[in-house]
Amino acid sequence: MLDAVVVGGGPAGSASARLLASRGYGVRVLEEHPCSGRPVQCAGLVSDGTIRMSGVSPDVLSTLYGAEVVFPDGETLSVRSSTPKIRAVDRAQLDQLMADAASDAGAEFSCSDKMLSYSLGDGFVEASSRTGSVRCRALIGADGHSSAVASSFGDNGPREYVRGVQADVKAPSDLDGMFRARLGSRYAPGFFTWEFPCGDFVRVGLCASWSAGPPYQYLKRMLDDLYPGCRVLSKSCGKIPLGGRRTVCSDRRMLIGDAAGQVKPISGGGIYPSLMAAPILADVLSSALESDDLSRKSLLPYERRCRKVFGKELERSYRIRRLFLRMDDDELSAAGRFASRDDVRVLLDDIDIDHPGNVVKKVLSKPSTLPAGLVLLMRCVL
Ligand SMILES: Cc1cc2nc3c(=O)[nH]c(=O)nc-3n(C[C@H](O)[C@H](O)[C@H](O)COP(=O)(O)OP(=O)(O)OC[C@H]3O[C@@H](n4cnc5c(N)ncnc54)[C@H](O)[C@@H]3O)c2cc1C
Repeated sequence: MLDAVVVGGGPAGSASARLLASRGYGVRVLEEHPCSGRPVQCAGLVSDGTIRMSGVSPDVLSTLYGAEVVFPDGETLSVRSSTPKIRAVDRAQLDQLMADAASDAGAEFSCSDKMLSYSLGDGFVEASSRTGSVRCRALIGADGHSSAVASSFGDNGPREYVRGVQADVKAPSDLDGMFRARLGSRYAPGFFTWEFPCGDFVRVGLCASWSAGPPYQYLKRMLDDLYPGCRVLSKSCGKIPLGGRRTVCSDRRMLIGDAAGQVKPISGGGIYPSLMAAPILADVLSSALESDDLSRKSLLPYERRCRKVFGKELERSYRIRRLFLRMDDDELSAAGRFASRDDVRVLLDDIDIDHPGNVVKKVLSKPSTLPAGLVLLMRCVL
């Protein structure tokens, strides 16, 4: 019997499989697609820290030094650093390299092999997939936003989903090493847009609240307004769970990555939290396998440690998102005017994309920015 079956060969699944296999456990990864990383449903934006945590070196398509935020009234706030802030990596290659690393560590990959269902037996989990069934001591749900493993965890979904869509377009660009985000109901109700140069093309995309309807209408508007006549090279779309699940482990089962709702609520980035979660999962599961106690109680330290290491921050960020959702275009523009003040801008200069919510904390802890920051907050709350 295998020690663990990991459902899903994305970053969360491959990182977990590599760490477990390198400790000598028998691990099989079931991936429904013929290979990891395709189809791509990601802008590929990560910090250098996240690339280091992935343990692999995917091609960097673009290095970005700062961001320009365009508010609904057209005002623009631009923050540029002399050092790289974000890299856009080849996401398909990142996933494939991570899968190769897991394979090299001893994990067995079964591709084109979708898990169809699973059942709990006496001392094992049996996972049924396209190619048959397999027994394991623990099942890891790394199967993304619509996780089949998570569906048996009861009424435990993420608080919301947003929908994202993006296009790579051939068009002239003035973006010279910058990431541009647009806020407001015209292009991205309930989230933001992105535009950044990627070699000889521009990646243009957006996420929008579920209630705003299919996001393609906003992408079309963006391309018509901002990149008229551009040549669309490719398009991709996907959904992102925000506001993580309350429970991420149960008897013999653990969730990680999008399946666990481990996504940054402000940016929608999920690679960083899933790579933070993987070593915790491997540690806790190893101890549980050693003691042959795979009860929920024995796996609970995974939930607790994730909460301590990054979960509290995700919760704080989700509270910021809820305030953001209460803002109409006028309020977003007022926030833009506030953020353009010299004493606020200086705080934005060292924004860390893995911890964007910290900026709000800094604004509210500085005597000169606190009063206006509070007024803005009150406008959202009331
Ligand atoms: C438009 C868009 C842009 C994004 N941009 C960024 C970004 O710039 N930076 C960032 O950090 N994050 C970004 N994200 C989020 C990021 O893509 C996810 O958070 C990340 O992929 C989560 O990794 P994961 O391994 O948990 O899940 P996934 O990458 O979704 O991997 C899950 C895998 O499980 C497989 N699977 C699912 N069900 C089964 C099954 N039953 N049997 C077998 N296999 C199964 C899937 O095929 C998939 O390969 C973006 C998301 C979207 C939609």
